[in-house]
Amino acid sequence: MVRASSIACGETCMKEKQDQHFGKLVVDFANASTAEDAGTVFIRDAAAAFGFGHGFLEQALGRYPTLKLFEDTLSADSRGLVNLLLEERRLLSVINNLPCNISLASYDYDGERVLSFKIQPLEPKWDNENPYEEDVVRVAVGTGGEKWLDEVAGMFDDRAPLTTEMDEVREQLLACLGDYIALTDRILAIRQSIPPEKTHEAQKMAAYYSRIQAEQEVLAELQERWRMNLGEIMETQDLSRNQTLLDLLLVYNMVNRRETAISEDGALYEKPLFEESYFTERAGLADEYYHNVLVFSFVEFLKVAGNRKKLRKCARCDAFFIAGPGRAAGKGCALCRGKRGPGTRG
Ligand SMILES: [Zn+2]
Repeated sequence: MVRASSIACGETCMKEKQDQHFGKLVVDFANASTAEDAGTVFIRDAAAAFGFGHGFLEQALGRYPTLKLFEDTLSADSRGLVNLLLEERRLLSVINNLPCNISLASYDYDGERVLSFKIQPLEPKWDNENPYEEDVVRVAVGTGGEKWLDEVAGMFDDRAPLTTEMDEVREQLLACLGDYIALTDRILAIRQSIPPEKTHEAQKMAAYYSRIQAEQEVLAELQERWRMNLGEIMETQDLSRNQTLLDLLLVYNMVNRRETAISEDGALYEKPLFEESYFTERAGLADEYYHNVLVFSFVEFLKVAGNRKKLRKCARCDAFFIAGPGRAAGKGCALCRGKRGPGTRG
């Protein structure tokens, strides 16, 4: 009898602990001071919540794309070229995000030196198979002078809408293109002075950096979204009609589908929802990758009676926290209560 009840208690206690881990995962993610921290704390807390074994953290964090990892990997002699390549990417994105029907499709600066523009027609071409087909206009940059810039200006005047606002866009486009050509000349000069594999390495690192940047933009948006989610679930009077929770449950019910598989020795078993490989072999959209785990964890946390009331926001620093037992523990986050010094509680 004693044994049976102690086993039951053991299981209950473990479950109780797991829902606290799930809550911590969501709260830590929302509280993280930078997007980079949000990403790494997500993996650390997932390891605790899903009970992943030794070696997992090292493997998952070792592969996780962070600016720190980028800095540690980048060799000193590649840095200059990588910075120029990143500036090239940035300028291209500025050019192609101008409010304009003209975009820069390509520029082969180590070959023919021809700028290739794509232009959306101002009027549909009804006699064409695709009335919205873009025209391609090529402008030779050549080796000297700024004749090409006049050609681009002429193209703009012929093909862009004739409005006063477009004058500003025209000036921006010409200025950016001037910078862009000067930049690609510098890149070409460096590329011609180093072995091709060094160029290749720099290109890989620039792409890696851009990927990290895109990832962190997604993380920052998700953090914002989750701070709103937590605030709303915490404060709402009528949980049964709360649209945020209903939306989260839609995702939860989609994510929470257990699959049964056959093991090597022929036994049927239920696969865990999130295996270690989910965190070490990333696939799919960054947004969903984080969100699905956050939704699952948050709902698992809320499923345990009384947990929602333990979700609080610190009056001092605005961080979310899960209140522990006792009255004092509910008044501020652990960090702020710690700062008050020993002896002063509550
Ligand atoms: Zn606080």
